[in-house]
Amino acid sequence: MEERNESQQFVISHEKEQVKKLKFAKNSGFQAELRRRVDDLFQSSDLRERDCPQMYTKTIILLSSFFGIYSGLVFLAQAWWQVIPLSIVLGIITAGIGFSIQHDGAHHAYSSVAWVNKLMSMSLDLIGGSSYVWHWKHDVLHHTYVNIAGYDMDLEVGIFGRLSPSHARLPFHRWQQYYLWLLYGLLAIKWHFYDDFYCLITGKIGDRTYPRPKQANLAIFFAGKLVFFSIAFLIPLLFHSIWLVLASYGLVAVTLGIVLSVVFQLAHVVEEANFPTPVAEANIIDNDWAIHQIETTVNFSRNNAYVTWLLGGLNFQIEHHLFPNICHINYPVISKVVEQTCQEFGVKYNQHSSLWAGFLSHYRWLRKMGTHSSLQSNPNQ
Ligand SMILES: [Zn+2]
Repeated sequence: MEERNESQQFVISHEKEQVKKLKFAKNSGFQAELRRRVDDLFQSSDLRERDCPQMYTKTIILLSSFFGIYSGLVFLAQAWWQVIPLSIVLGIITAGIGFSIQHDGAHHAYSSVAWVNKLMSMSLDLIGGSSYVWHWKHDVLHHTYVNIAGYDMDLEVGIFGRLSPSHARLPFHRWQQYYLWLLYGLLAIKWHFYDDFYCLITGKIGDRTYPRPKQANLAIFFAGKLVFFSIAFLIPLLFHSIWLVLASYGLVAVTLGIVLSVVFQLAHVVEEANFPTPVAEANIIDNDWAIHQIETTVNFSRNNAYVTWLLGGLNFQIEHHLFPNICHINYPVISKVVEQTCQEFGVKYNQHSSLWAGFLSHYRWLRKMGTHSSLQSNPNQ
């Protein structure tokens, strides 16, 4: 699998710094059997792994909604009661572009044609993030080492919060279930103004180094920033006061930050998810890779087609982690095969029936992590 080869390169490029390479120690045959069953599913039906017509339709709907609402905000809206709802909807549509178009493109799940995937993944540059940095942070670090503290940078929020039992608990974490929501709202603003530039300048993602963008990728990085800042600030400033532009940008970005954070947290940072730690000195995770992915991930709202559409299938995060290279349109069908195989192999398939149930579980997990110093992962099991 491409991600795993790249993660090996990633580790090799860090040998000088003696970054510990983690290996998954077990191979129970679960992954091979699951792959065989999913291959059968595609061969015995008219489903397509990539280049799904629904995905192309969805791309047109999301991008035209984005530019339509953006045009309404910049060229038509005059009063606050027009700016506020349009900004919130624009934030939600922007998240939808990230979840569906960019995410599938970045995982080579959108199309079988490489340049189509590259182009779709670059929709992230349009909405303010670097597709190049994302590739290393998400496709490589997060997907390979999900929920392993120190490796999965999505778990790291600095001193502000304790998401994993491996993190140190600080006294003020006892209130994190209340205040972290405010920080989630700032995620997109920090990403737009700080994160990518920090990664570019330091050559690091969190405390992990990665190959800096060069040549074409560097040009895309800067061209993307130029396009984004023009869309977000330069063009609106030709028509509106700086205060209105800043307020509208703030509302779009806070909406985007909350939606992005909540979708990630509900999938991985809840009571039912595991937070494994490597076996000391041996640098191994004492598990099968595929089972590790399932035990660290929780689905939600599987029966809600609207949620599935808008979140790019990320409410089926288990299926996404097992088959990131398959278009998300197929996750609901694949999930039946995964759930059945899990049952047969005695692997727990975690899910919440609704978005709200996942939301509450995340709240309770934050409260638990903020008040107990226990290092035990998944105290419910
Ligand atoms: Zn992903």
